[in-house]
Amino acid sequence: MSVLDLVRPELRSFAAYASARTEAGHGEVMLNANESPWPPVDDIGQDLNRYPDPQPAQLCARLAEVYAVDAEQVLVGRGSDEAIDLLVRSFCRPGVDAVAMHPPTFGMYAVSARVQGAMVVELPLDAGFSLDVDAVLANLPETVKLLFLCSPNNPTGGLIALADIERLTVALRDRALVIVDEAYIEFADSPSASSLLGHCDNLGVLRTLSKAWALAGARVGVLLANPAVIAQLRKIMPPYPLPTPCVKAALSALKPAARRITGIRVDKLVAERKKLAVALEGMRGVRKVIPSHANFLAVTFEDAPAVYQLLIGQGIVVRDVTDYPNLSDALRISIGTPEENRRLLAVLRTGCTALPTSKRELHA
Ligand SMILES: *Cc1c(COP(=O)(O)O)cnc(C)c1O
Repeated sequence: MSVLDLVRPELRSFAAYASARTEAGHGEVMLNANESPWPPVDDIGQDLNRYPDPQPAQLCARLAEVYAVDAEQVLVGRGSDEAIDLLVRSFCRPGVDAVAMHPPTFGMYAVSARVQGAMVVELPLDAGFSLDVDAVLANLPETVKLLFLCSPNNPTGGLIALADIERLTVALRDRALVIVDEAYIEFADSPSASSLLGHCDNLGVLRTLSKAWALAGARVGVLLANPAVIAQLRKIMPPYPLPTPCVKAALSALKPAARRITGIRVDKLVAERKKLAVALEGMRGVRKVIPSHANFLAVTFEDAPAVYQLLIGQGIVVRDVTDYPNLSDALRISIGTPEENRRLLAVLRTGCTALPTSKRELHA
């Protein structure tokens, strides 16, 4: 069985829109795409009057090199959010097929599933925020076509072991695609699941330039997968997904000198994460710092809403994650610059002492 047998039947022989740029990309006189023959009036980019390459070869090649895969295994889109959406729309029939995930986790898997009319199957992490692979395999309904694994997980920061990812992917061969979201893998001391792509046709790995690479505003996300899956997703992708300025920004960020600086910054953030975790542990008002392999910490507090308000009052915005299962007393704190982290700690140190009597003391 081919992984393409899992694609929605009505999309298997679907013909993609043939754009001018895909039919004939280059010539001396370009009169095939109804573009303006002149560059933009303002001096903002000489080539902006032309439609962009749908999948710029240079960018795909750079990304393939950075992620140690073949260029045919790379799909570049507008953030990994776009890849999530393309996967759900390609593999899940509305009202029939399902998407599985492990709450508490990233919200876009369920949002994309609901927009498509696909069922959402939740297989929660255990009390220690780990994935129980046997429980997943025992409880995964036949209708599930996509299983999203987030590693390191947002918002808890936990990792899923490569051996567990491999076991799930092999067990679900011929049944479902396993998609590992590695938006934060640069901050983890752990190899990418992309090393499994060679022998797992039903595996996909999501990467992004939005976090470690400092390009959230450029919206560049990547799916690494079997070339047949990539080709299938491209059929339903809009014809010109990548704006030219964003492609340029990505190419700049991936140049060797910039890569070295990014590596140094990642190391710095990881060191800051460790320092911040130590400083928060044992601070008055803090219950627990959940061990994180990402560029954030989920921290549980005696009174999370009060801490949230305290921080907002001092101009510091963190993420309230109290709506997530098992995190009803937690805030998610992104790691900032050393200065920003010092400021956060200073506010917490003075503020938490001044907070109204904590619940723990009331119950003591
Ligand atoms: C931030 C994040 C993304 C990235 O999304 P982009 O669309 O690439 O910006 C993907 N997955 C998770 C878990 C995230 O936290």
